[in-house]
Amino acid sequence: MEYNIKCIGVLTSGGDSPAMNAAIRAIVRAGISNGIRVKGIYRGYTGLIENEIRELTTQDVSGIIQRGGTILKSSRCPAFQTPEGRKQAYDNLVAAEIDALIVIGGDGTFTGARVFAQEFNVPVIGLPGTIDNDLWGTDSTIGYDTSLNTIMECVDKLRDTATSHERVFLVEVMGRDAGFLTLNAAIAAGAEAAIIPERSAIAEQIEEAIGQGKRKTKNSSIVLVQEHAIEGGAQTVAKILSEAHPEYNVRVTILGHLQRGGSPTAQDRILASRMGIAAIQALLEEQRSIMIGMQNDEIVYVPLSKAINIRKDIKSDKWAAMQILSI
Ligand code: ADP
Repeated sequence: MEYNIKCIGVLTSGGDSPAMNAAIRAIVRAGISNGIRVKGIYRGYTGLIENEIRELTTQDVSGIIQRGGTILKSSRCPAFQTPEGRKQAYDNLVAAEIDALIVIGGDGTFTGARVFAQEFNVPVIGLPGTIDNDLWGTDSTIGYDTSLNTIMECVDKLRDTATSHERVFLVEVMGRDAGFLTLNAAIAAGAEAAIIPERSAIAEQIEEAIGQGKRKTKNSSIVLVQEHAIEGGAQTVAKILSEAHPEYNVRVTILGHLQRGGSPTAQDRILASRMGIAAIQALLEEQRSIMIGMQNDEIVYVPLSKAINIRKDIKSDKWAAMQILSI
């Protein structure tokens, strides 16, 4: 495709995250400010294949900055993983006169976007929209801060009951294969321990959690468990703990999709707004196949290949902070 971009398509795909709407709003308004028409593609890649595409005006994105979820809806779309599905998507893109795509989602969304960009030579820009904060090349992702705050508030509430009844609360946190949410929420909520997949010695982590829970100065413990740190998640940890220490009064709380919703925090709204504007700017600069990232409060362009393929590390000082502060 030529780099004369008059019309772009925007979609949200995969797991929704708070402030995706703020990003859509920014893309629409920054696009229109630069003389570019913006079309919304509904239900992620499904809408591209099934031709659910509609032009968005500045009014269409009024009153959405404070809303969680995504006005464009989202989906998982197995058909986009087939060459036939992507060909259909491309035909619809051409028919809608869309010259470039902005996709908001996680690594799955970016993987699909990259394949599509390579097959049909379409300029694609990715915005990191995921609560997991597991994409390399950006300090934070759209929705992460809100989710972190939601988990912290839930744990604060559980703490009241935990202390009143002298219990051990195991709180299961979502996060695919990444422990950023779990560890950071544990630090923020003052939990006694966190069990995350990045630290391989799970048995050791459970032992540490038991150790922290046993201290005489505290009569209750809260341990955050990343859902995939161990098969069966917090329920498995509860079983191990109860068998080793029948004297413990162990309770499990699974936060589940609670941690995905809600009105976005100021930080997420600002991040999403800046990234949305940056996506339009990147297209004007003839960038393609990149993710917009934020590093040290500066917008950066990260090749999609790197964002997807490089594993983002948990900072060792954060793990240390968890250990030091829970004594
Ligand atoms: P997320 O973007 O939150 O990581 P998913 O992993 O569910 O969410 O991916 C979202 C969508 O991206 C998938 O439903 C599919 O349509 C598309 N996708 C993921 N992987 C591929 C792939 N290898 N090829 C083409 N499309 C893909």
